[in-house]
Amino acid sequence: MSTTAINKPALLLIGAPGAGKGTQGETIGHLPGYFHCASGDIFRALDKESELGQKVAAYSNAGNLVPDEITLEIVQTQLEAWVADGTYNPEKEVLLLDGIPRTVNQAELISKFVDIKRVIHLSCPDYEALLVRMKKRALDKGRPDDAQEEVIRNRFSVYEAETKPILEFFGEDKVTTIDAQQHPIQVLNELTQALLDHSLYQEL
Ligand code: ADP
Repeated sequence: MSTTAINKPALLLIGAPGAGKGTQGETIGHLPGYFHCASGDIFRALDKESELGQKVAAYSNAGNLVPDEITLEIVQTQLEAWVADGTYNPEKEVLLLDGIPRTVNQAELISKFVDIKRVIHLSCPDYEALLVRMKKRALDKGRPDDAQEEVIRNRFSVYEAETKPILEFFGEDKVTTIDAQQHPIQVLNELTQALLDHSLYQEL
């Protein structure tokens, strides 16, 4: 596989399901010099009739993680395709990673082809508040994995067990923690400030 994206600057948005990674990633991703890459969106765009699409849906509909190797293969292939068709320009855009890496193993694997400069932790220890947000999202966006409380609670457990250790993997010097229970505009304000403080923007 080509190594087009090696050492390209990236920012990781990490937080429990419903913490607002997608909202913030999409918003910043609209600015020149940024490219938003959400693994969940890539998975949901797979052909549902294909074997791969069905395999991935079986994991995500149950709130479980798609295995690391399959995840990395799909995301890397999509990134390469975006580079090839000009959608994503790694020379000029900071990659906003949303939902990937989601395990320490994924963090190790992805570090071979992207350079995660900073980790933004959207912190919300109040899972009941997140549950309310997600039930609303299920109605707004028609996501099957958001509709059942049992599945949502499983995703919170998976987040605690598998994803949170990523924060230690990167170390506190690399992590900016933002209170995700604030209004989205306040979260955006702090996120923007972190990007400025750490020079996470490219000359246009
Ligand atoms: P959220 O962060 O709101 O839970 P996402 O849209 O990021 O939702 O992900 C939806 C589902 O897709 C996850 O619950 C999981 O099953 C799967 N998924 C997304 N990203 C990854 C990943 N990096 N590794 C494994 N599974 C993933």
